[in-house]
Amino acid sequence: MTTFPPAQDLIVRNASLPDGRRAQDILILAGTIKAIGPALDAPEATPVLDAKGDLVAPPFVDAHFHMDSALSYGLPRINASGTLLEGIALWGELKPELTHQAIVDRALAYCDWAIGRGLLAIRSHVDICDPRLLAVDALIEVREKVAPWLTLQLVAFPQDGFLRAQGSRERLIAALDRGVDVVGGIPHFERTMAQGAESVRALCEIAAERGLRVDMHCDESDDPMSRHVETLAAETTRLGLEGRVTGSHLTSMHSMDSYYVSKLIALMAEAELGVIANPLINITLQGRHDGYPKRRGMTRVPELLAAGLTVAFGHDCVMDPWYGLGSADMLEVAAMGLHVAQMTGQSAMAECFSAVTTAPAKLMGLDDYGLMPGCRGDLVLLQAGDPVEALRLRATRLAVVRGGRIIARTPAATATLDLGDGDRPTLNPVSWRGGERPGF
Ligand SMILES: [Zn+2]
Repeated sequence: MTTFPPAQDLIVRNASLPDGRRAQDILILAGTIKAIGPALDAPEATPVLDAKGDLVAPPFVDAHFHMDSALSYGLPRINASGTLLEGIALWGELKPELTHQAIVDRALAYCDWAIGRGLLAIRSHVDICDPRLLAVDALIEVREKVAPWLTLQLVAFPQDGFLRAQGSRERLIAALDRGVDVVGGIPHFERTMAQGAESVRALCEIAAERGLRVDMHCDESDDPMSRHVETLAAETTRLGLEGRVTGSHLTSMHSMDSYYVSKLIALMAEAELGVIANPLINITLQGRHDGYPKRRGMTRVPELLAAGLTVAFGHDCVMDPWYGLGSADMLEVAAMGLHVAQMTGQSAMAECFSAVTTAPAKLMGLDDYGLMPGCRGDLVLLQAGDPVEALRLRATRLAVVRGGRIIARTPAATATLDLGDGDRPTLNPVSWRGGERPGF
C-alpha cells in the first residue's frame, strides 16, 4: 500500500441510482464525475463498467468507529458480562500491552475489509488516555497509508474521561497538535453530572478555538436522567458551532420522558446537531441491567429524522472488547437500525440506506462525496436493483470504484441447485424485481 496510479477515466453504463433513476451512465474523467445521464458519450478507449441495471451508489460511510481496538477480540480475554463498563475495563487491561505495529497491522487489515465492502470513508475515535499516545501516532500513520483508497478521519477520544482521568486535557491537545481532526468526549463517564456538563463546555470551547468539528460519545446509558446532549446542543448554539457538532449514541433518549424529549429535540434541531446511532452495539450493550421487558436502547431515530436532524448509523465496533462480531458491512448496520427503529415503510427503509451513505458523509464534512458532477468518482456497484433490495439482500459489492479506478471486485452471489433436473445456477440470495421470478 505505498504507490497508487493517478485518478482514472471510467464510464459506468446502465446503472440504477439510489434516487430511483434507471438506465443512467456515469462519466468519470481524471477521477472526477463529469456527467450523469442516459446514453452518454465518452472519449474513445474509456474503460467501461457495465452495471447491467444494478444499483450504483456512492460508497458506504461509517461515521462512528474505533479502529484502535478493532480486531482485538479476545485480547487479553473476552468480555464475560457483555456490558459497556466491562468492555471499558477490558480495554484498560489491554492498553499497556499494545504496540504501535500491532495497532497499525490490525487497522490496515480492517481497512482492507472496508474497501472490499465499498466502505471508503470512516470516522474513527482514537483513545488519547494513554501517556504514550501510541494509538494516535499509529492511526495517523494508517490515515496517510490508506488515503488513496479510503478517507480516514480521527477523533480525539478521552475514553477514561476528560476530567476524570488525570492529564486528559494535555493529551487531547497534544493529539490535536499531532493532526487528529475532531474533538471527542464522554460526558456520561465523568464522575458527576456537573463534571459531565463541564467537560462538554470545555471540549466545545477547544473545538471553537481551533475551528474543528466535535463528535462526542454522549449519554451512552439507559439512565433517562443522563442529559448531556442538552448541554451539547446549548454549547453548540452558544459557540456558533451549528452543523459542526455530532452526538454519538444518545441511547439515554430511548428511556427519557417523552415530554422532556419534545423540548430536547427542538433544541437539537436549533443547534443543527448531527446524530449517530450505533444499532449493532446499542441493541447488545443497552438494557443489560433490565429484567423483562428489556429496553432496546437505541436513540429515537424516526423522531429525530422527522425534526430535520441528520441521523447516521455507525458500526462502532468490530471484534473488540465490546463486540465480538461485525465485518465492515454497513448494510448489516443499516438493516439492524431499520429493524430496531421499526423503520419498515418504503421511504423509511430508503432513509436507512442514506444513514450509511449520504448522512454520515454530511456529518464528516466530505465535500466531494456523492453521485453528482464535480464529486470524486467514488462509487459502489451492488448486486441489487435499489437501496431497499440492497438492504434486504446485504447485496454483494460487485465493484468498488475510487477516483475512477476499480479497486475491488466480488463475484456475483449464485447458488447451483440440483433438484433432479440437472444443475441449475440461480442468484442467491434471490433478486426479485419488476415481476421477474427466481428459478422456482
Ligand atoms: Zn463508540
